Amino acid sequence: MSEHVPSAETEMIHAGTERLPGSPAAPPLVPASVYASWGVPDPPHAYGRNGNPSWEALEQALGVIEDAEAVAFASGQAASMALMLALAKSRQQVVLPSEGYYNTRMLADWLRPHGAAPVAVDLLNKGQVERSLLAGPSVLWAETPTNPLLRVADLACLGRLASAADAPMVVDNTVATGLLQKPLDLGAIASLCSLTKAASGHSDVLLGAVMTRDHRLAEDLRSWRAVGGGIPGPFESWLALRGLKTLALRTARQSESALVVAQHLMGHPRVRLVHYPGTGQATLELAKRQMPRGFGPLLSFEVDGTAADADAVIQASRVILPATSFGGVESAWERRARWASETAPESLIRLSIGIEPVEDLVADIDQSLVAG
Ligand code: PLP
Repeated sequence: MSEHVPSAETEMIHAGTERLPGSPAAPPLVPASVYASWGVPDPPHAYGRNGNPSWEALEQALGVIEDAEAVAFASGQAASMALMLALAKSRQQVVLPSEGYYNTRMLADWLRPHGAAPVAVDLLNKGQVERSLLAGPSVLWAETPTNPLLRVADLACLGRLASAADAPMVVDNTVATGLLQKPLDLGAIASLCSLTKAASGHSDVLLGAVMTRDHRLAEDLRSWRAVGGGIPGPFESWLALRGLKTLALRTARQSESALVVAQHLMGHPRVRLVHYPGTGQATLELAKRQMPRGFGPLLSFEVDGTAADADAVIQASRVILPATSFGGVESAWERRARWASETAPESLIRLSIGIEPVEDLVADIDQSLVAG
């Protein structure tokens, strides 16, 4: 009988745990900034900016999900900054989605003097992406589903376009996480994740990570992290690893509930438009292929009315937390255009579905839409 190979999900649950007699079942929290080294030239740990057992256990688990090396950072933005700096040098352009996460767009703009210039495109417009990539040495910075419009881009197709233009492709995989979507299998050199969201899942840490199968890039990122100082905190890493162990359970529940809520909202008289990968008709088949295990916790919808009408809906909620961010165990919503740099429609509410029973969420949404 051939030996059964455990799934990535199982390995992720056991990552970082020693199996020797007397070892703790949960990888220990190691808050050390300095380690005894006795003059040994290259000890496994010497100074906390170069390595820490707590973040290494987290990286082990993250690496398992995407079958890659993982490099953890202090936040999603710290991960993006190191990755952009590492890939933009010696290139002219960062080609990125015009409606993607706005801090990524801002970061690319701010890093312009240190590398490449941002070029905003519609990732669903293949001709435009191709022309932009061929205009000069580029990095393709894809994001799918996008935050907050949840648009789904075809990663296999983008990977081919990038490869033809000799451009490395990065995918911001924060919304889907490596559990639902595998960018590295579809041509990406790096998969980026803000662990602040669904990956850690409990709204209690800020962290980020880059997953890659390119060892040189991983080494480069570790150097940027050690020199730039955007290191993950040991306690945050410990919390994130604890959260990751239930990612599959949480994601299954959240994806199921989000689909129910999205379908419910589509039939609601006060809702003009719903954005969700599992209901977006034009890209539904693509989403099913690219995210076969579910469409994730995040959706958005446009209230049929003004910004003030949408604000009133949010103010009326009794269960869903009026708050930013997404992917936590608690449902949360906000009107995205309240942020000055956001380009989302004025009455768009982004809703992150938590793990509460879906009937409670539907009831809260209904009473908020009536009251607001
Ligand atoms: N990428 C996406 C798609 C995000 O939504 C966010 C945060 O909202 C980030 C990156 C940045 O992550 P962090 O807030 O952990 O820096």
